[in-house]
Amino acid sequence: MVDLIKRNKKLFVIFIIAIIAAGFCFFLWRINLSEPELKEELAEVENYFPKHKIIGQSVEGREIEAFIFGQGEKFLLFVGGIHGGYEWNSSLLAYEFIDYFNINSEIIPENVSVAIIPCANPDGLYKATGKEGRFILTDIPSGVSLDNYRFNANNVDLNRNFDCKWKPESTWRNKIVSAGTAPFSEPEALVIRDFVLENNPLAVVFWHSQANAVYASECENGVLPETLKIMRKYSLASGYPAIASFDAYEVTGDAEGWLASIGIPALTVELKTHEDIEWGKNLAGVKALLEYYK
Ligand SMILES: [Zn+2]
Repeated sequence: MVDLIKRNKKLFVIFIIAIIAAGFCFFLWRINLSEPELKEELAEVENYFPKHKIIGQSVEGREIEAFIFGQGEKFLLFVGGIHGGYEWNSSLLAYEFIDYFNINSEIIPENVSVAIIPCANPDGLYKATGKEGRFILTDIPSGVSLDNYRFNANNVDLNRNFDCKWKPESTWRNKIVSAGTAPFSEPEALVIRDFVLENNPLAVVFWHSQANAVYASECENGVLPETLKIMRKYSLASGYPAIASFDAYEVTGDAEGWLASIGIPALTVELKTHEDIEWGKNLAGVKALLEYYK
């Protein structure tokens, strides 16, 4: 009996020494990794986890978030919810894409990075959802008008606050809307501007609803040839009709027009309804752009 305990003690000590030795070897191996090797490992890990950034705040102090997937030098930006709760489905679509890329990151080509800003107007969206950030379909009230949730907390139409033919008042269908006190007077528009200038995207897509179309963009100098190309790609894949020039009514200060003015191709994707994210159509459209920039 005494012998048995002695032998087990010996085995236990040997076991502990083996663990310590293995740990020491691992430590030596890690500190011997060169800096490029470490960087490469880190990059591999980062590819599987999106970078989540708070890129700014709304008038009422709500966070404006960006999720960035991939490591490639070709930077693509997708923005939902610039018209807040009135177009909540454009934000829900953006959140669905974030979930999708979280588990399907391999779909993003090596040379591409994708950034998603799910809601550019969190105060307007909050009025509809009663929630900060991610929401689900059942958070949306039914049977009430969401028209006024289109604006930010200063009652400004953010998609009239950008620096392209800006005027203090603009139009939305047959209504006069406030476009702010100056181009980029609103914090939400500033956040988008600064994020764009910092990351210099190759293309930007804004999701809206509900005109059932993919629109090109322009300011003073017409539509960029590249914009027409990606408009056709998204349109063909998604089935939303392509419209090169929006002429239903005069729009000033729109984000897409400002992007055109600084040479960045931008699309407005208008979902067909206010109720559905039209996932299959938009997944096909986004995949077509990823393929194009590969
Ligand atoms: Zn809109």
